[in-house]
Amino acid sequence: MINQKRLVECFMELVRIDSVSREERDLADFLIEKLEDLGLEVIVDQAGEKIKANTGNIIAKLKGSIKKTTPIMFAAHMDTVVPGKNINPLLKGEKIVSTGKTILGADDKAGIAALLEALHLIKKNNIPCGDIEIVFSICEEVGLLGAKNLDISHLNSQVGFVLDTGGQVGQIITTAPSQNSLEFIIYGKSAHAGANPEEGINAIQVAGVALSRMKLGRIDEETTANIGIISGGRATNIVPDEVRLKGEVRSRNEKKLEKYTEQLKKITEDTAREFKAKAEVKINRCYCCYNLSPHDQVVKTAVKAAKDIGLKPLLLPSGGGSDANIFNKKGIPSVVLAVGMEKVHTTEEYILVEELKNTTEHILSIIKTVALGENLNE
Ligand SMILES: [Zn+2]
Repeated sequence: MINQKRLVECFMELVRIDSVSREERDLADFLIEKLEDLGLEVIVDQAGEKIKANTGNIIAKLKGSIKKTTPIMFAAHMDTVVPGKNINPLLKGEKIVSTGKTILGADDKAGIAALLEALHLIKKNNIPCGDIEIVFSICEEVGLLGAKNLDISHLNSQVGFVLDTGGQVGQIITTAPSQNSLEFIIYGKSAHAGANPEEGINAIQVAGVALSRMKLGRIDEETTANIGIISGGRATNIVPDEVRLKGEVRSRNEKKLEKYTEQLKKITEDTAREFKAKAEVKINRCYCCYNLSPHDQVVKTAVKAAKDIGLKPLLLPSGGGSDANIFNKKGIPSVVLAVGMEKVHTTEEYILVEELKNTTEHILSIIKTVALGENLNE
């Protein structure tokens, strides 16, 4: 039933349209036309203006032929990471790859292509379905900014399926961490390094001692911490008066996240005090965790839909955030579905044609599962 040629060509066409974060306009224009041709009602929200992108999020609705089913949302993001311009996709046997000079952009155009194919088939074959809402978001890769600024009142969906993770189709992400970003600025005191170093307070040294006292990396099963950027100092003959450390803490457990963030803050402040330096601490919540259970409707639907088409459903935790963190926070229970993209965010990124087909099948199977309103408790 799936038209493989059309699906692959659509995917190739999508990745040829440049859409690095904040520059998704060309892709948005292309998708709006496609969605309208497929009979969906399309709006673009105001998110772009708020976050300085050249388009907003696309929200499209398909009125279903079946009433009395819960509306469901499918989402994928339009933006890509760099190097993501002038992508030239190549079909090599079973695989689609880039030339090696750029990413491929299967993240997340695999999700978009599969959705378009599914919508195509629904229209062409008059497949019975309930109301379907599609969100194509902007700026996912730069902090989930599109989803964060999405006006949720446009949506009626009770559950959401975000097509945006690597791995075999059938894998379902049901939990993802919260993340805090950290910035520690240590203020010492500058002085001439040779003439009067006793008057200085070396901020680099303070930072070094503080860092040596921090446990970083994997803290426990649910929690990780990292300091990823350090900058400071002006010349070898000046005692440095300022150092910045930037990092993050993630945890799938809110309490642990707050506790560990607080611990790193305290180490920095205490160490600064010891050296008579000062510390300024900036903590920012990037996104919140979600923890869905296998008994939640959205999870049961994704699992059943996968089984029905012979895929092996596998519930997994994620180590990172996605638009699903935001949808869950905003009140739409959402899982992330694997779409088969591999080595994302590298120039070796690829996807198997088979997985594009599987994703399309999984989407259609979810739509069918919801439309039939089958008893999912079995
Ligand atoms: Zn992605």
